[in-house]
Amino acid sequence: MKHKFIDMHCDTISELYYRKRENKPYSLYENELDIDIKRLQSGGAYIQCFAMFTYLPKVESAFKYADTLTDLYYEELEKNKEYIAPVLCAADIDKNEAAGKISALLTLEEGECCEGSAEKLKHFYDRGARMMNITWNFKNSLGHPNHVDVNNGSVSPDMENGLTEKGKEIVAYMVDLGMIVDVSHASDKTFYDVADIVKGPFIASHSNCRELCGHTRNLTDDMIRIVAEHGGVSGLNYCPAFIKTGADYITADDFADHVLHFIKVGGEDVVGLGSDFDGINSKKLQVRDPSYLPMLWDTLVKRGLTEEQADKVFYKNVKRVFTDIIK
Ligand SMILES: [Zn+2]
Repeated sequence: MKHKFIDMHCDTISELYYRKRENKPYSLYENELDIDIKRLQSGGAYIQCFAMFTYLPKVESAFKYADTLTDLYYEELEKNKEYIAPVLCAADIDKNEAAGKISALLTLEEGECCEGSAEKLKHFYDRGARMMNITWNFKNSLGHPNHVDVNNGSVSPDMENGLTEKGKEIVAYMVDLGMIVDVSHASDKTFYDVADIVKGPFIASHSNCRELCGHTRNLTDDMIRIVAEHGGVSGLNYCPAFIKTGADYITADDFADHVLHFIKVGGEDVVGLGSDFDGINSKKLQVRDPSYLPMLWDTLVKRGLTEEQADKVFYKNVKRVFTDIIK
């Protein structure tokens, strides 16, 4: 049986853009990627967040690149408007559901797309962005990431370098605007700096438990407790390297291990989903695209969650945070 879900992170728009740029066919409705509308529908999608991911070494202007991706996001929503519609305010979520449509939420993955400027951040807010990562895996004008060695994974959390002065201003401005501050990819110090500035909820859209899988893209137990204290959520990331070190195949039970650890440490309100689909190697996954999510829901219940708790993980926790922040 299908169960409603909210996925806080995917890189599908980037993948579509690479195809468009190479004059290859591309479609959000049906494709060979991890996510398309057909499989979102069959899996029970309620809200899908779409990240405008900017890879700094390859772009001249992060602002212009993210703006180009945003154009493509709206082109695809327009082509598929009978199935999917954007969320700009909390009321849109129920409105889209009543119309039988999946909701789409625009997010920014690379804080440098606002180039340190409140006006540029506001530009993206006005275009519908409601969530932004401080950093990806590079240092930028807002703050520092945890060091990630692209060849060997990541072993060194950065406890020294956090938000810059500009970063502190931008985070405070995001709170004023009603944008969700996302600490996935941020350094440990950046995480704690964000927790000092943001009094209400903030999120880690796609990060797991470092206690179970020692990758620095994951959260320590202390961080999970702080996210919970703030009323925020962390989205389960399906990336094999963030679930289980060295595994060739990742089962729904491996996902459930992280969900159960989140709940043990931070309570049943702290965990949601943040697939990272189209940014990860999904060939290694039992839950290999959104149409497999009902299997995950069944696994969570089999592992001892109540149906209400499984629904909290699938959508209720994230919806609570979204409706709290996005006015
Ligand atoms: Zn990411």
